[in-house]
Amino acid sequence: MHEEIKDLIKYFIEDYKVINNTKTKWRETIIAFANAKDPIFLQLKQVVDKDHKLPHKLLKNANSIITFFIPFNDEVVLSNSNGINASKEWAMAYIETNKLITDLTSFLAISLKEKNYKCFEIPPTHNFDKSKLMSYWSHKHVAYIAGLGKFGLHKMLITEKGCCGRLGSLITSAKIEATNRSEEEYCLYFQDGSCTQCVDKCTFGALINDSFDRHKCYDICLKNGRLYSKLGLSDMCGKCACEVPCSLKNPCK
Ligand code: SF4
Ligand code: SF4
Repeated sequence: MHEEIKDLIKYFIEDYKVINNTKTKWRETIIAFANAKDPIFLQLKQVVDKDHKLPHKLLKNANSIITFFIPFNDEVVLSNSNGINASKEWAMAYIETNKLITDLTSFLAISLKEKNYKCFEIPPTHNFDKSKLMSYWSHKHVAYIAGLGKFGLHKMLITEKGCCGRLGSLITSAKIEATNRSEEEYCLYFQDGSCTQCVDKCTFGALINDSFDRHKCYDICLKNGRLYSKLGLSDMCGKCACEVPCSLKNPCK
C-alpha cells in the first residue's frame, strides 16, 4: 500500500501546482507511516504533553498514520536567510503549503474512504492551545514516530530533505506497514557537538543552546504574521532553520 499512497500524494501535488498556479516551489514530498499502536504515542502523552491525543481517541479503529513532509525549494529558504523579519516568500510558502496540506489530506481521506477505510483529518496548523502553545496532535512528533526524521537542536524535525518545509499527517483505519526509525542522529549538535548555527541565527533569544522559549518564539511569529496579514494567516519565522547545515538535507549523511 506504500506505493499506492505515495503515488496518490505525488500526482495530487503535481496537479495542484498547475490548477492553483501556486507561487511556492516545492521539492518532492517524503512520506512515512506509523503504527497507531506504537508505544511511543503513550510516551509522547506521558513525557511531552499529557493532552496529546492517542490515535484511537481521534479515530476508533485507528490502525495507521500517514505522515508527509513537503520541502520548500532552495529559493524559498535563501529568501529567509537574512534580516530580522521573515521574508515575503517564506510567508507565502507557509500559507500556500498549509492550504496544500489541508486539501491533500482531504483528498487522501476521500480516496481511502472509497476503499471503505475511515480517516481522521488534522489541520496542518492552528490546532493548539493558545496558553500552553501545545497541540492536541503534533505532526512533528508523529512524523518522528513514523521515522520521517529526527529532532534538531532547534526543536524542528530534520528529514532527509532538511527541515525547511511543512509536515502533515492523517489517521486511518487502513492497516499500512510502519516504516523504520533510524538509530542515527540527523543533527550535527547531537551527533558530535559540531554545530550550533540555529542558536546563532535566533537573535530573538527564543533558542538558547538546548533551551527553547516557545512563548518568545510565538511572539516573533505573530509579529511576522501581522506584517503579512494581507497574504493570509502566516504566524511564522523560521530564521533558525534557514541557511544552516540542516536546512535542505540531513547534514549527518
Ligand atoms: S543548525 Fe546545526 S545544531 Fe541546529 S539543528 Fe541544524 S544541524 Fe542541528
Ligand atoms: S522560529 Fe524564529 S524566534 Fe523561533 S526559535 Fe527559530 S529563529 Fe527563534
